[in-house]
Amino acid sequence: MARPRIVIVGGGFAGLAAAKALRKTPAKVLLIDRTNHHLFQPLLYQVATSQLTSGQIATPIRSIFRDQKNTTVVLGEVTGVDKAQKCVFVSDADRQNASIFYDHLILATGASHSYFGHNEFAEYAPGLKSLADAEAARNKILQAFELAEAEEDPSRHRDLLTFVLVGGGPTGVEMAGALAVLVRTTLKSDFRRIDPASARIVLVDTAHVLGTFPESLSRAAKQRLEKLGVEVRLGHRVDHIDAAGVVIAGERIASKTVIWTAGVAPSPAGKWLNVETDRSGRVRIQRDLTVPGYAEVFVVGDTASLDQNGRPLPGVAQVAIQQGRYTGKLIHNRIVGNPPPSPFSYFDKGNMAVVGKGFAVLESGKVRMSGFTAWLTWAAVHLEFLATSSLRLSVFLQWVWTYLTGERGDRLIVDHHGSEARKPASGKTFEATFAGR
Ligand SMILES: Cc1cc2nc3c(=O)[nH]c(=O)nc-3n(C[C@H](O)[C@H](O)[C@H](O)COP(=O)(O)OP(=O)(O)OC[C@H]3O[C@@H](n4cnc5c(N)ncnc54)[C@H](O)[C@@H]3O)c2cc1C
Repeated sequence: MARPRIVIVGGGFAGLAAAKALRKTPAKVLLIDRTNHHLFQPLLYQVATSQLTSGQIATPIRSIFRDQKNTTVVLGEVTGVDKAQKCVFVSDADRQNASIFYDHLILATGASHSYFGHNEFAEYAPGLKSLADAEAARNKILQAFELAEAEEDPSRHRDLLTFVLVGGGPTGVEMAGALAVLVRTTLKSDFRRIDPASARIVLVDTAHVLGTFPESLSRAAKQRLEKLGVEVRLGHRVDHIDAAGVVIAGERIASKTVIWTAGVAPSPAGKWLNVETDRSGRVRIQRDLTVPGYAEVFVVGDTASLDQNGRPLPGVAQVAIQQGRYTGKLIHNRIVGNPPPSPFSYFDKGNMAVVGKGFAVLESGKVRMSGFTAWLTWAAVHLEFLATSSLRLSVFLQWVWTYLTGERGDRLIVDHHGSEARKPASGKTFEATFAGR
């Protein structure tokens, strides 16, 4: 008898966990992803702020499954699902909407940015979701210092060296803290005409920083950010973003570098399946993580919506990993004829966010902690969840080196063809800028 085929779409936290849980299953597992790598998104901000390189937070999916013989990795973009025919449509450079049939389907396609109905902001305020996003942000940040150094009119330095982060969740807070450390330590002595430490970093949020954390930790994070020199603007919505900066509560803040660290929108899995979604578009699933009416279709991770104890599960890595593992186990049991596992239940291990060098906030059960011990815990947990031991070692050594010396892993601007420096400027010369030096 032919072995059943399990198609997993997405090699993020959920898809990877599902595939690993199926390693001993007598089935053909097909893992499809539009990128060739598994990305550790929680450390994206460290690539954006030059602390780590892209290769330190991402691993080729193919290499992860090198020894898992029942699993084949496919590089391709899924564009739709036909539930009746039991197939997904996949496009790559050579094929358009080619069908791949399944017996069991796991959709683990994650989420992207949400600009809350203001998609026009995307052009001026890129988000942080992929490696390309993180490298683009790093280019933009480093480029701003280069442009300021070469700018003859000192009054423009302020605009060039103002960085605005929109959204005070973990990503915004971690990014703001890391940026503050970058400008006040690593870059401090590298420039001659500008003082990088004078850079203005503004973090904006409509409510609180780290709004999902207990109030005491939210307050501790805010105080720490302010100590690092970050301007925290709370209770304000960003009204407008354009090439010249942002408008917050009627006040314009001139800035050449605005980064969107606010909302997320799920992948279009709900549209592909044409099934019920929650208000944000996440697919409503049942306690066995299947889609109602389709026992062979599972949706897991950031693109799924499931309530537990009357509240929706959050879009975090632990939920995705636990749901992925559960789905793998359930499908394995079905195929080998074992009874199904009991309904899915999320075990919340807690929340953490790092705020600059050697400081984090941590909440786990009744424990609430902020400071250096929380930061050590944060570091240990993040190292544990990196995909391979070589990444763990490499990131650990880089962190120790950066902690001791302030030196960063990757301060390269790699997108020089698209940089502002290449666009014709208004008759400016370098001679006028550097005269007398
Ligand atoms: C900047 C940032 C920081 C974060 N920090 C934390 C943190 O500190 N702690 C925490 O717990 N969580 C954090 N999160 C959230 C966490 O990363 C997500 O909850 C988690 O990645 C969700 O896992 P997932 O498998 O559902 O989706 P993802 O990990 O996003 O994986 C989705 C995968 O699907 C692929 N894919 C998408 N669409 C298609 C398609 N059409 N065809 C083929 N492949 C497709 C993508 O390429 C990707 O590999 C952070 C997220 C971001 C963006």
